[in-house]
Amino acid sequence: MKEKSEKVKIPFNKPFLTGREIRYIKQGVKSGQIAGNGKYTQQIQSHFKNRFNFQKVLFTTTCTHALEMTGLLLNVKAGDEIIMPSFTFVSTANAFILRGAKIVFADSNPRNPNIDPSQIEGLINEKTRAIVPVHYAGIACEMEKIMEIANKYDLFVIEDAAQAIDSYYKGRPLGGFGHLSAFSFHETKNITAGEGGMLIINDPQFNDRAEVIWEKGTNRADFLRGKLSRYDWIDIGSTYYPSEISAAYLLAQMEELDKIQQKRKKLWKTYFDLLFCLEENNVARLPYIPPDSAGNAHMFYVVLNDPQERDPLISWLKGKGITTVFHYQSLHRSPFFKDQHDGRELPFSDHYSDCLIRLPMYYTLRVEQIRWICSEVKQFLL
Ligand SMILES: *Cc1c(COP(=O)(O)O)cnc(C)c1O
Repeated sequence: MKEKSEKVKIPFNKPFLTGREIRYIKQGVKSGQIAGNGKYTQQIQSHFKNRFNFQKVLFTTTCTHALEMTGLLLNVKAGDEIIMPSFTFVSTANAFILRGAKIVFADSNPRNPNIDPSQIEGLINEKTRAIVPVHYAGIACEMEKIMEIANKYDLFVIEDAAQAIDSYYKGRPLGGFGHLSAFSFHETKNITAGEGGMLIINDPQFNDRAEVIWEKGTNRADFLRGKLSRYDWIDIGSTYYPSEISAAYLLAQMEELDKIQQKRKKLWKTYFDLLFCLEENNVARLPYIPPDSAGNAHMFYVVLNDPQERDPLISWLKGKGITTVFHYQSLHRSPFFKDQHDGRELPFSDHYSDCLIRLPMYYTLRVEQIRWICSEVKQFLL
């Protein structure tokens, strides 16, 4: 009986398929060019660039690699300090740890898991090179304040926009504020290539070198454009672009972005409206989206008041066949980093680590299913 009741009825995530992915991949395979930086890569890049009006974009193997490229582009070296939230994915930090930098973790703000801008200034010293805001759940960080601080101290800003496709702050798309930004097309994101990412270059001083680093440290991109008669090794780099198969898959998804977003936003709003009573009854907090910004329904989460309630709630829902999951564990407390942390308490980061729970969110989820999920959540919490 127990086995039957624990069968998964609603998974946490299901990747969306447009139906055109296979056709595009087939065409790519037939054309005979499936290595990277071919026709589909060019197409997905121009589609993405034009859609969000970015200055320059490069399709990458992952968002993790796009972030690594930013570390290379800034020439981050041992002794440099990089400020970022502790409540984030390991890739945000690894990109700079790999270059020998010291990570200085900041706390989240009380209203959502994004970096608290009022803390940043106190963490800056002469070794600080960059601030890396992470738009958690696709919800905008306070980019105006962050850019103001960065300009005052002459620091770079790199947006970890992994979750933030089609999110806006003051009418401008996220990923368009920092000097550099990175998006993800991992299977769990709003549109996907299985694995994939996009480096956004907003500061044109990085245009040429970004392409060289992306092409294994060579000027092959200029050679392909017919600007050079051969290509040479001119800098450090790696293979930071995926094969055309990934680009073909992603192009099919990108073409359906509006349809995907419309559906996700409807699902997100259904959750928000049905669970608003949790906030009214003071048993949990819902996502806070700052004024003048628009989220992208990447994720729906609830922050419980009491960490003791989370595991029982997850088990209760699992018993009904509904899969829910918690999320990041503060990186300053991780086995890898805890001995390197300077000992500052980051209570809000820890609070989100202990109390945040993510509810199912994917394109084919139905409004009736959300009604059911919400009634189970309410039955448990109210
Ligand atoms: C998904 C994610 C990444 C990593 O993206 P990949 O494409 O899997 O490398 C980095 N940062 C954040 C905040 C993410 O959500």
